[in-house]
Amino acid sequence: MKEMNNPTGSTKGVVLVTGGSGFIASHIIDELLDNGFRVVTTARSDEKGRRIVESASPFQRNKLSYIVIGDIAKENAFDSAFTQGTIFDYVVHTASPYHLNVQDPIKDFLNPAIKGTTGILKSIVAHAPTVKRVVITSSSAAMINPLNHAKVYDETCWAPWTLEHVKDPNRAYVASKTLSEKAAWAFMETERPKFDLVVINCTYTFGPVQRNLPSLDHMNTSNHRIRDMLQGKMKKDMSSITPVFTFVDVRDVARAHLKAITVPEAGGNRFYIVGNHFSNKRIVDSIRKSYPEFEARLPPRDIPDDFPDEVFGFDNGKSKRVLELEYTSLEKSIRDTVQSILDLNLGL
Ligand code: NDP
Repeated sequence: MKEMNNPTGSTKGVVLVTGGSGFIASHIIDELLDNGFRVVTTARSDEKGRRIVESASPFQRNKLSYIVIGDIAKENAFDSAFTQGTIFDYVVHTASPYHLNVQDPIKDFLNPAIKGTTGILKSIVAHAPTVKRVVITSSSAAMINPLNHAKVYDETCWAPWTLEHVKDPNRAYVASKTLSEKAAWAFMETERPKFDLVVINCTYTFGPVQRNLPSLDHMNTSNHRIRDMLQGKMKKDMSSITPVFTFVDVRDVARAHLKAITVPEAGGNRFYIVGNHFSNKRIVDSIRKSYPEFEARLPPRDIPDDFPDEVFGFDNGKSKRVLELEYTSLEKSIRDTVQSILDLNLGL
């Protein structure tokens, strides 16, 4: 394990966070460190691991380390994380492919999603008897059924995707999330491990990009829309908001993961993490209000709102009751996302 500094003074426990180079994971790591946990994260390369640790604040750095784990689709990929002497209390599994460059849906999406999820659960059972709880980042993609929308979505809803749907590049991601979450719950049912499971079903996520981003081309998929607007790429054609229509801020998603660890009653539950509806027009209006200097690159003021007349509702009551979440507004989320992109100073 590569520890940039010697992690000392663990307080509330030690958490393994997979996929630390990712957008959502970067905020989960910060939230855990800010709340007294020590974190070991996984990265696909030494360089990525270093970037994660070096971009953390000096105060946080001594509680953060990384371990290099290659492709999570490989058999026993996570074993080495649990056999190097660190005693883990919790595991947060966020690593899973989320990009638009689908070449081979099975290899690119299905295998890492399912084998990564069942693989880490198996490794914990085999090598980490101290782990009390596992939190998995699923998605609203595992809940939403665009073929026949629910009137109001909540945690009882499941998407209809099967192995057949994975072959369709447009459905590879949503099917990978649905099937990997199902595989996790099936594992809990059949293996009855000593730890319990919490699943976070977050919707389309905006919010400050991670500090360790090497370039704007490496930006996470769900923030592309905002980057592209700032770059003038959506002046004429805006990428469709169908079938998601809802957003959440990444800091609320990170908070949900923290609470999924700290709230005992969360165990055995999935949580729909959704802030509100959004549309391209509403995003553009938010950018225009806070950053008028981008006016020339934005779609015209008088474009109609692309939010349809009738859209499904959402019920995020369970996350508010059990996890005590309060949701960030679209305007703040967009403003802070834009500012984080400007702060990177990577050019636009
Ligand atoms: P990112 O692309 O920013 O992060 C994905 C992470 O997974 C990266 O660390 C990536 O590593 C790692 N990863 C992907 N494939 C593999 C693999 N085969 N082997 C090892 N590591 C791999 O995405 P997000 O932060 O947006 O997403 C994180 C999680 O949240 C995912 O599970 C995603 O499905 C889920 N989610 C995201 C939403 C969103 O709108 N952003 C909404 C709902 C759920 P590397 O950097 O090396 O590629």
